[in-house]
Amino acid sequence: MRHLVLVLADGLRPDAITPSVMPSLDALGGVFTLALHARTVRPSATVAALASLATGVGPDAHRLIEPGLGFLPGLRNIRPVAQVLAAAGIPTDIVAGDLGAATLPVAWALSATAGVRRLTAKGSRARDTTAAAARLLEQREERLLFLYLPDCDRAGHAHGWMSPAYLEAAAEVDAAIGLLSPWTDAAVFIVTADHGGGGVYGNEHDLPQPINDHHGAVVVRSARTRQLRRAFPEGSIRPHTHGRAGARVMRWVTHCGGARVTIGIGVAVVALGDVRLGTAVLLANGGAHLIVQLLKRAVARARPADVSGRLLALVPLPDAHSFPSGHAAAATAVAATLALAHPMLAPAVLPLAGLVAYSRVALRVHHVSDVLAGVALGLGGAVAAWRLVR
Ligand SMILES: [Zn+2]
Repeated sequence: MRHLVLVLADGLRPDAITPSVMPSLDALGGVFTLALHARTVRPSATVAALASLATGVGPDAHRLIEPGLGFLPGLRNIRPVAQVLAAAGIPTDIVAGDLGAATLPVAWALSATAGVRRLTAKGSRARDTTAAAARLLEQREERLLFLYLPDCDRAGHAHGWMSPAYLEAAAEVDAAIGLLSPWTDAAVFIVTADHGGGGVYGNEHDLPQPINDHHGAVVVRSARTRQLRRAFPEGSIRPHTHGRAGARVMRWVTHCGGARVTIGIGVAVVALGDVRLGTAVLLANGGAHLIVQLLKRAVARARPADVSGRLLALVPLPDAHSFPSGHAAAATAVAATLALAHPMLAPAVLPLAGLVAYSRVALRVHHVSDVLAGVALGLGGAVAAWRLVR
C-alpha cells in the first residue's frame, strides 16, 4: 500500500449518504464498509474533532476546542499522528479548499507544528480541491494524504442542514470522491466527517444532540478494489442501487433498441425469405439513424445531469449528445415497419418499441423530448421505407 487517503467532508450528515444524493459514496459503502453511526467528540465542532483526529485523544486532553491559545498547556500530552508517521519516514500532506488570507498562515503553522510536510489550499469547490489531491496521488510515494472538503459545512451554516443547497454541496462532495476512483487500487480510503449538523439550531452543529454528534464513515480497502471495478460500469463508480431489479429489466429492454438487435432483425427477415420487408426494416432503421446522427450534432443537447453537472445515466452512454434518442428511433423504425407489413404484429411489436423508448428515460440517458423525437423519426423512417419498397 502506497497511500492512506483520509477524506474529511466537513459537516456531512449520515442521512445525506443516500443513493440519490451521494451515489458514489453510497456505492462505496455498499461494497466496502459503511458506518452510519460514527460518533464525534464533544463539542461537535470542527476544531475539536480535527484536533482529536490528528492526535487520537479527546478534547479534554488536547484542549483545542475553540480558536485561541488555550490548547498550549495540553501540548506536551499529545502526539500528532503526522509526527509519529514522519518519525517512521512516512510524510503527511494536507489538501484543503481555499483558505482565506487570515486563516492560511494559522493553518500552515498548526499543521507544520503537528508534523505535516505540506499544506495545499486550493479550489472553492470539492472537485477542484480533489483534483489537486489527485495530482499528489500520481506521485508514487508512500504517504498519509488528508483531504479536507468544507462544502457541506459551509452550505449547512449558510442555508441549513439538509436544505437544497446543502444536498447540492453533498452531491458536489460525492462527485469529488468519484474523481478518486482511479486510485482505489493503490490506496486505502477513509471518507468521514467531523460532525453532523442542524440538530438544535438549523444552521449550527456544536450543541450536544444526536444529529450533531453522528456522522457517516466509509472505509475502502484496496484489496477489494477489483470487486468494485466489476460492480460499476467503465469509467464510473456510479451505482445502480436505486431500484436495482427495475434497472436490470430496463437495461435488458434497452438492448432491444441497440444496433445489434435492430439490424439483426432486418437481416433475419431477409434471411427468412422476405427480402422486401427485410430491406424495408433495414432502410427504415438506417434512414432514421442517419437523421438522428445529423440532429445530434446540430442540436448538441446535453445528457440528463444533476445540478453539479454530473451525468445521471445508469448505463454507459454511446455519445455525449442527448437529442434525439437513437434507441427510440431504431426500435420504432423496426417495429413500425413490421406493423405496416403485418398489422397483426402491431399489438406485439409496437408496445415493445414503446418500452425501449421508455427505458431510455428510466435509465436517465435521455430527456422525455429526446425520446418523443426519436419515436417520430422512427415512424417517419418506417412509413418512407415501406412506401419505397412496396
Ligand atoms: Zn461548522
